[in-house]
Formats: sequence, C-alpha cells, structure tokens
Amino acid sequence: MKSIVIAGGGISGVYLAYKLASQLEDVKIYLIDPKPYHEFVMGIPMALAGLVKFEDLRMPLDGLKRVKYVRDEVVDVRESGLKLSSGEIVRGDYNVLAVGSFKVGDDFFSVEGAEAFFNSVSAATAVRFVVDELYPIMGFGEVAISIKTLWPQKEVSIHMVYVHPDYKWLFDAYKETFEKHGVLFTEEPPPNDRRGELHVVVPELYLHPLAKGLKVGSLFETQYDRTYIIGDSSLMKIGLPPIGWGALWQASVLSQAISSEMKSGTIEVEVDEWSYMKDPDKFKQYFTYRMTKGVPLVQLKGLYDIWKTKVFGSL
Ligand SMILES: Cc1cc2nc3c(=O)[nH]c(=O)nc-3n(C[C@H](O)[C@H](O)[C@H](O)COP(=O)(O)OP(=O)(O)OC[C@H]3O[C@@H](n4cnc5c(N)ncnc54)[C@H](O)[C@@H]3O)c2cc1C
Repeated sequence: MKSIVIAGGGISGVYLAYKLASQLEDVKIYLIDPKPYHEFVMGIPMALAGLVKFEDLRMPLDGLKRVKYVRDEVVDVRESGLKLSSGEIVRGDYNVLAVGSFKVGDDFFSVEGAEAFFNSVSAATAVRFVVDELYPIMGFGEVAISIKTLWPQKEVSIHMVYVHPDYKWLFDAYKETFEKHGVLFTEEPPPNDRRGELHVVVPELYLHPLAKGLKVGSLFETQYDRTYIIGDSSLMKIGLPPIGWGALWQASVLSQAISSEMKSGTIEVEVDEWSYMKDPDKFKQYFTYRMTKGVPLVQLKGLYDIWKTKVFGSL
C-alpha cells in the first residue's frame, strides 16, 4: 500500500489529508505534528466575538480514523526523508511539509494566546494594535473589529508603523471597513502607553526554519524527490501572502496531482473551486478580490461549521 506523510496538522495539512482521503482508497496517510490537536486559527476572531468557544477551535488529532496521527516534530528535511525529533527518518511515497510560518510578536494568534488576550482585553480601557510587518496577516483586523463590537465603549485603534510597500494597497482598501466599525486606522504610532491601555504588537511572519533551504516548483515540489511544501511558508516563497485561502488552494492542487499520479501514472489537475487557479497570478487576482471584500464573521462561521463536520470530522 502506498503512503503519504504530511508534516503539520494545520489548515493546509488537514485540508490535504481530507482531499487525499476522499480521492484515494488504498493509501496510508500519516500526519505528524508536535501538538496533539489541530487549531482552526482562522476562527480566532469568531471566538473573540463570542460566536464559538475557544476550546471548540482545538480539535484532537489522536481520534482520527482515516489518518494515522504521529505526535512528533520534523527537525530536518533530506533526500532520505523527514527526520523526526526522535531521530527516526520517515519517508512515504509522497512527503509534504505543511508546517506553517514562524511568528515573532505577541502571541495572540494561537488559540491559547488568544484566550489569554481576551481576558486581558476585558480589563483594558483601550486596545491598540501596532502593525510593523512585512507580510499582511489580516486576522488582526477581524480581531480588532470583534473587540469593538463586543465592547463599544473601548477605544480600539490600529497603528501601521511599517508595512512593506507591496502590501500598502491592501491596507488602504481596508481603511474604510475598519472605520465603519469604529476602529481608528492610522499611520501614526500609538500614544504613550497610558494606564489601563493594552498595546499589542501584531506578529511578523517569517519562513519556517525547515523551509529556508527549500526550492518551490510549480506543483510545490522541492528539490528533494517526492517532497513538497504547501501553506504559509510555501506561499511566501512563491511571492504570495501567507493566508488560509492560499493554503487551501495549494492543498487542493497538490492533492489532485498526487491522486491522479497514483491512479493513472500521469499528473492531472481538474478544475474545481480552488484548482482553476493553477498558477500564482490567477490566485493573486482571486486573493485581491477576497481581501478587498473582506470575510464577514458570519461567513467564517459557515466555513468553521463545514470544517468541523465535513473536513476535519470526516478524518
Ligand atoms: C487570528 C487569525 C485569523 C486569520 N484569518 C484568516 C482569514 O480570515 N482568511 C485567511 O485566508 N487566512 C486567515 N488567517 C491565516 C491562516 O490561518 C493561515 O494562513 C493558515 O493557518 C496557514 O496554514 P498552514 O497550514 O500553512 O499553517 P498552520 O495553520 O499555522 O499550521 C501549521 C502546523 O504545523 C505544525 N508544525 C510546525 N512546525 C512543525 C514541525 N517542525 N513538524 C511538524 N509539525 C509542525 C504546527 O503545530 C501547526 O499545527 C488567519 C490567521 C490568524 C492567526
């Protein structure tokens, strides 16, 4: 029986596992992650707004049936396979790194960090987000809007200290939306930390250390045989912003490539809602549309429900 090893049980790893499990019958899928649960981080703004509980965003990995969960961490990628912290080297017929990105800043982008952040927000008089980042993580914007909705009496502001010129347009597009929700959006730095205010440094995103030496080809293949990389770090490497929609797109394209090759020996990617954007430029257009329109929380709630029941729930 053929095997597929996926390192990383986040958005891209879980979606890839789901697509492969629904496209292939005789295959063994392994999912490696040091954390015993999948985190639906895109849902954090919903938890802050009270639409779901924080604990509902964590989904245990060890109960999975169609996928074999391995609790370990990949520490190196080589031609011979993925090296685990235990020293073991694992290699499937296909090997996929889906390890996300490396974040530097206040930890409110993990479910645990977001819950602690929520508790400190309730006691604060004002909440100010300081944005000094190369890549845009728009999640903080939804977090700001959630807080303002929940506590209208609190001052909530976003301070764009530095944003890479390539992404300036994105923030300009968002200004109106923030201000419509009563969230001040400015390029000025925040006022001196007044008593009772909460100042939050929005994390900057960097490549995951494992991704640094890897090349990324058109089907997200690396220089190592049958070894691929998808998700935040892969997107950054091909010049796209690291967002969940990109992670889903890559997982969809790669799952089709792998399953068609396994079934017929040739690679075919058929058109579906994601893979019609086979190339990064198409995706960029889609991304522009998606980001300028924004993703209202109710739509996120719909996505979360589908994810919990149909995607994660089917594994
Ligand atoms: C608060 C917030 C809101 C967001 N909102 C949106 C949104 O509305 N729309 C949107 O498109 N995007 C959104 N995003 C971005 C989106 O969540 C990310 O782009 C997406 O999660 C990236 O998926 P990924 O699989 O690459 O990484 P992740 O989901 O971060 O998963 C990476 C996984 O890899 C595991 N891992 C790490 N290192 C190793 C290792 N060495 N070995 C094995 N496993 C490892 C981690 O434990 C983790 O489970 C948001 C992000 C946040 C934080």
